[in-house]
Amino acid sequence: MSTEDLMNSVSNVSDDTEFYTPMPDGYIRGRCKYVVIMGTVMSGLGKGIFSSSLAKLMQDKGLKVAPIKLEGYLNVDSGTLNPFRHGEVFVLDDGMECDMDLGTYERMLQKDLSKLNFTTSGQIYTKILSKERHGDYLGKDVQMIPHVTGEVKSRLRELAVQTEADVVFAEIGGTVGDFENMFYIEAMRELAYEEGPNSVCFVALTQVLEPKTLGEQKSKAAQLGIKRLMEMGIQPHIIACRAANPVSDKVRQKIAQYTNVPLERVFSMHDCESIYVIPHMLRDSGYDFEVVKLLKLDQRINLQNERKEWLKWCDFVDRLDKVNHEINIGITGKYTSLRDSYASIIHALENSGTNLSTKVNIHWIDTSIINDDNVADMLKDMHGIIVPGGFGSRGAEGKIACVKYARENALPYLGICFGFQMAVIEYARNVCGIKDACSSEVDPDGKNAVITILPEQKGISGLGGNMRLGGKDVEIAKDSLACKLFNNKTSVRLRFRHRLEVEPSYIKTLTDNGLIFSGKAPGEPIMQILELPDHPYFIGTQAHPCFNSRPLSPSPMFTGLVAAARKLAYPDQKLPTVVQAVQEIAKRSK
Ligand code: GLN
Repeated sequence: MSTEDLMNSVSNVSDDTEFYTPMPDGYIRGRCKYVVIMGTVMSGLGKGIFSSSLAKLMQDKGLKVAPIKLEGYLNVDSGTLNPFRHGEVFVLDDGMECDMDLGTYERMLQKDLSKLNFTTSGQIYTKILSKERHGDYLGKDVQMIPHVTGEVKSRLRELAVQTEADVVFAEIGGTVGDFENMFYIEAMRELAYEEGPNSVCFVALTQVLEPKTLGEQKSKAAQLGIKRLMEMGIQPHIIACRAANPVSDKVRQKIAQYTNVPLERVFSMHDCESIYVIPHMLRDSGYDFEVVKLLKLDQRINLQNERKEWLKWCDFVDRLDKVNHEINIGITGKYTSLRDSYASIIHALENSGTNLSTKVNIHWIDTSIINDDNVADMLKDMHGIIVPGGFGSRGAEGKIACVKYARENALPYLGICFGFQMAVIEYARNVCGIKDACSSEVDPDGKNAVITILPEQKGISGLGGNMRLGGKDVEIAKDSLACKLFNNKTSVRLRFRHRLEVEPSYIKTLTDNGLIFSGKAPGEPIMQILELPDHPYFIGTQAHPCFNSRPLSPSPMFTGLVAAARKLAYPDQKLPTVVQAVQEIAKRSK
């Protein structure tokens, strides 16, 4: 159907219409269906977890799914946001710096996403303003409705065309009633109208309160939240009730009655021990088939594929309960009071731990108070440490003290990005004898900057989307620990987000003194992985391997750390070596 036909069919308008709904080339109405997820009552309900779990169940059924997160803020991407306020910045293979929910989607769906899967108000407005300057709306006043909402619909349809999706999952950031996401909600209402019946399924996530003083569940906030959505012209098809405990039938009935949603579509999504059991919860309650029915997808699903994929997932989930060992891993960073700042690292550790039937207890260690005198005490109960990514100088000396301690005391160590750089500085200072070795980021006037700005970064001014970003190939040295971890591959793809590198003029001194650079950028002197011989596990990477870790295929660098830490924690047991542990998982995930 052409744009014109579509416009006529949905609005019967004349030439001087205010109707505006740009249609991407190749878009066929009815080919792609949409599930729209919105949150009411409060933020932080786990919309991304819900949405990605549901998308996973649809993907298992052989359907092509494409998620998109629609953020309300004006930043063009998440790269300039403080992880302490907004959670970690997640980096996609194509270099998009986005919300950490994209990590949840990648882990649940076990696939790489791209910039098509993420947008912000900033991106939408930028597009509109540049079109306006280009004269694309000549003669018209550019307005929130229809131009901004038109652009939002266009983003969803573009995603549908590009990915050939059967179902697009659109998750709207924030909470219904927020000023900044109103236009997204209006766009979804328009989309449902234009696409027609059985094309858009609206899901409202809400919170059922359980005040301690009352000892019972209360539904009023949920009712009011959903009413707010209905005032905006949206009738939800499915309601998911978040709660600490299973939501009682009485409360579900109340919510059903006040929102016109059939009782069988008002679900309890209560707290559970792991996000990876949410697909089970949804499946057990029949959410997946409710969506299939609502969107009339029954002719497109493949139950054989579903059985195969489900078995694999169940095998992973069963392992969540099989805990044979327990280890303590210290994360030594500066955002230690907000778990979300290091979300991918936590997930990567959990993914590796689950696959090795090992419970990983994470300990947050604030490096701004660590020094050579107290480091032994601070790390005394740890079986392994991670120095994570970071920017700026705060806590840098504490991190270097942690690296030194790990190196000298055979404590398993994984350095990520900034942690890789700190390991280079520590080695330069304490092994190569360059006492004032530093990073030009931490000490701009330092004489011996072994970590300096990348040449490609030198001319860049301003911040935002301009670091060395995204997936890049890493050339791995044969027979190195890295090579063994990566299943004897000599080239792997990892994701990056940095401005600095090992200063090439120091590489020879470092390697002459025993440091091994086992991963490099092909054709460039950019060092990407380091390791130490004669240490149970000492490895660092300029990349962020946590962004590639998935439940069924955890990052080998994290698995290596967990396996090494487990050996340290249980010295009397005959446990697999690091390499054996990694190989075992690689075999399983084939
Ligand atoms: N600040 C360092 C750099 O820009 C490390 C970055 C990071 O840890 N992501 O190179």
